Amino acid sequence: MGQVTTSTGIGRGEGTGFGSGWISGVLAVTFAALAGGGVLCLLFPWLLTTPDARGHYPLGIVRFLIHAFLVAGFGLGTLSVLLRRSRTLGVTALALTTVATLLGGSGAAVGAVESGPGYVGLDWFLLNVLVLALLFVPLERLFARLPSQPIFRPGWQTDLAHFAASHLLVQVTVLLTLAPAALFFAWAVRPGLQQAVQSQPLVAQLVAIVIVADLAQYAVHRAFHRVPWLWRFHEIHHSARAMDWLASSRLHLLDIVVTRGLSFVPLYVLGFSAPAVYAYLVFVSFHAVFIHANVRFRFRPIEWLVVTPRFHHWHHAAAPEAVDRNFAVHLPVIDRLFGTSYFPDGRWPDAYGLAGLPVPDGWLRQLVRPFTARTPGVH
Ligand SMILES: [Zn+2]
Ligand SMILES: [Zn+2]
Repeated sequence: MGQVTTSTGIGRGEGTGFGSGWISGVLAVTFAALAGGGVLCLLFPWLLTTPDARGHYPLGIVRFLIHAFLVAGFGLGTLSVLLRRSRTLGVTALALTTVATLLGGSGAAVGAVESGPGYVGLDWFLLNVLVLALLFVPLERLFARLPSQPIFRPGWQTDLAHFAASHLLVQVTVLLTLAPAALFFAWAVRPGLQQAVQSQPLVAQLVAIVIVADLAQYAVHRAFHRVPWLWRFHEIHHSARAMDWLASSRLHLLDIVVTRGLSFVPLYVLGFSAPAVYAYLVFVSFHAVFIHANVRFRFRPIEWLVVTPRFHHWHHAAAPEAVDRNFAVHLPVIDRLFGTSYFPDGRWPDAYGLAGLPVPDGWLRQLVRPFTARTPGVH
């Protein structure tokens, strides 16, 4: 699992290797937090779950997972307390499992499900953390581009907070993504054109969505780099000095809704079928995370066809020659067409982030920074 630097606040002064109680402690807190979140979703579904998903959860599996995570959290927490001098991790896990159990544990009764005007997507957050961590943590351990980079590298708390905020606020981000297209571009809709688009095979629609969405995303992304007041929002994403799956979440909320909202406009106007749009959303949610991951795969035969981690890592590179390059997130050919490609053969960047480190760590600081920073955003 590697060495953790002291700036992470975890493992300060004590080892993090096997037998130190650190691995068991981190796993215990993770399991206990997931179980606790699951119990809260059972108790308060009207407030903490996504209305569209509420009725579809297999309750038997959810309860089994909560039970398994509670047992694992308690067992590993105890192990960590026994092994480790600093008992913070172990005691935190034991406290969380105790509270979750007192609240009913895996047998907690499902609360009323009447919808209120708003909700928090705790279920959406827990599900994404679970699936993405299960997928990417082993992948990054087995095929690391930088094997010495630990899972809990500096800045991970900030990125996890960005991840949590964008998922918990899913109601707001989805609304702000979809509403502007219908509100401002209804005039551009041509029923005949939409019917022609929808009558195409699903795969053809999916390919067309990737092309159209990335062309729109390219334009918006490039504007975020070139327009100084927009750059103040987007520089948050580029302040990441370590690339991994979690770094993909480091995005200002305004960056998220403006980029997604404008990229959605051509999809709305062209009227792609719902299954094609959903298939694209599944693809993009994994692909966007993957291209940030700390993995050494090169996909040499298709590197010029589809954006790979190496291509997007160069977008984050600190080297001056890579600044304002590789805006595409799906199709590198767009950057070649517009003369903004930088993709040296076989090499990876030496360092990531912004020269001069202008952006401080911390979710709230990064959220308010574009509105308060006195120095004009320059890039
Ligand atoms: Zn960028
Ligand atoms: Zn990125």
